[in-house]
Amino acid sequence: MHSEPLLSSLDPAADAALAAPVWAASCPPTRAALLQALAEVLEEHREPLVALAHEETHLGVARLNGELDRTCFQLRAFADLVLAGGLHAVEHDTAIGGPPPRGRPDMQRVLVPLGPVAMFAASNFPFAFSVLGGDTASALAAGCPVVVRAHPAHLRLSRAVFHRVQQVLQAQRLPSGLVGLVDGASVEHGAALVQHPDIRAVAFTGSRRGGLALQALAAQRAVPIPFFGELGSVNPLVVLPAAFSDQSPDALAAQLAASVALGMGQFCTRPGVVVMADGEAPRRFIGELARQLAAAPVHPMLTPAIAQSYLAAAQALRRSAGVHVLVEPVPEHMGPLLATVQARDFVHPAHQAALRHEVFGPAVLVVVCEDASGLAPVLESMAGALVATLWGAEADSPLARQLVAVATARAGRVLFGGVPTGVAVTRAQQHGGPWPSSTQPAFTSVGLHACERFLRPVVYQSAPAWLLAGLPT
Ligand code: NAP
Repeated sequence: MHSEPLLSSLDPAADAALAAPVWAASCPPTRAALLQALAEVLEEHREPLVALAHEETHLGVARLNGELDRTCFQLRAFADLVLAGGLHAVEHDTAIGGPPPRGRPDMQRVLVPLGPVAMFAASNFPFAFSVLGGDTASALAAGCPVVVRAHPAHLRLSRAVFHRVQQVLQAQRLPSGLVGLVDGASVEHGAALVQHPDIRAVAFTGSRRGGLALQALAAQRAVPIPFFGELGSVNPLVVLPAAFSDQSPDALAAQLAASVALGMGQFCTRPGVVVMADGEAPRRFIGELARQLAAAPVHPMLTPAIAQSYLAAAQALRRSAGVHVLVEPVPEHMGPLLATVQARDFVHPAHQAALRHEVFGPAVLVVVCEDASGLAPVLESMAGALVATLWGAEADSPLARQLVAVATARAGRVLFGGVPTGVAVTRAQQHGGPWPSSTQPAFTSVGLHACERFLRPVVYQSAPAWLLAGLPT
């Protein structure tokens, strides 16, 4: 296993700029062949790459194999999208004679690649949101080179994957600058990448603090560029009373505990706040949730800094007014956190900040309302989220309709039943909700619409026939 990359240049953004026109003009089979070969190379070197990923992240071989499968699926899905055509051609309004407004010129609207994309890998998905993850796959599919800012939580893996990428580019006689890597050990490297004049867009997955700092740099450039940030999110899960008529409190608690504790809770889609009305079944649910979480398996977190932030956030939560801690982590045992709070304390303006802070780790806060009429006000008091989950809204009722409306206003994805961890890669997927979960809620970083972040519309008005003949269909 090579751990050193084939470093093509000290200035990968400049290399990407050189590769940009070649790649923008590439035909669908060329783009698809690259994406397919990148999936193949990951699969071919699966064993050593997964072993290295586990060594660096502690996420477990089974989970990492699944993540590698997902990453390959994603690369192939974008290859299929490119081959299906239509990625660049959007609309054609033929000319209509006569005076305006009915009369009009011929208008051909196309989407063109933005150019080199700076991509910040996520700490918690060493394959699916890293060197060959969804951002890279969607940017390459859109016709844009990518410069990856490697995440320090899996630096050796990033270099090993980058090495394989360079081999594929060489074999396909494509410019090495099509995929670059920045792996310096300080935030200055990422900052310099965002400020590099050859970079045309930024895709970021990480914390709100990091995202805001980099977004400000993107906006302060001499030529500001779009910044697509997927940030931290407190994802609500609202339990309607009907949920307990379909499933037992114990079964529901086991389902939630598994989702909260999965991968030490290091998922941006982990449910962070559960809202429910008081009652016998909810009380049993909370008791069983505490039992399950206290017994959940633990492993080291992704980085010492993430572990420290988790402990600090857990301590801040336990100090908040009205919060009652049932299960808590201690430095010697970085286990889950479960706390409860009454709805009146949760919605109280003076308590809002501490209770709404994302705790990146296996933490969940249960907000207990006096009755079901309190569910919607609690959800309304919450900020934007990547995903909102509703349990027990399967049957039509005024309460279900009210909660769907509130959830729709606050989240990019509204889930009925089940748990929100696990984001399917499909055409319809939306991973990105209102602020603060995303800086650009009109776009998604997962699913086939992810390409749209890196394409810009241009309309050709009354264009000559020779130009129209060469436009993508
Ligand atoms: P992070 O601290 O924001 O780091 C992410 C990347 O941004 C790293 O490469 C880091 O640089 C860089 N960075 C951070 N601050 C910077 C600054 N001021 N200037 C330049 N570069 C900067 O995030 P993390 O600790 O890896 O991940 C945990 C957080 O990410 C959680 O809040 C979690 O919710 C969020 N997250 C969100 C999603 C999603 O899909 N929305 C997915 C995963 C994680 P260095 O490499 O130099 O450290």
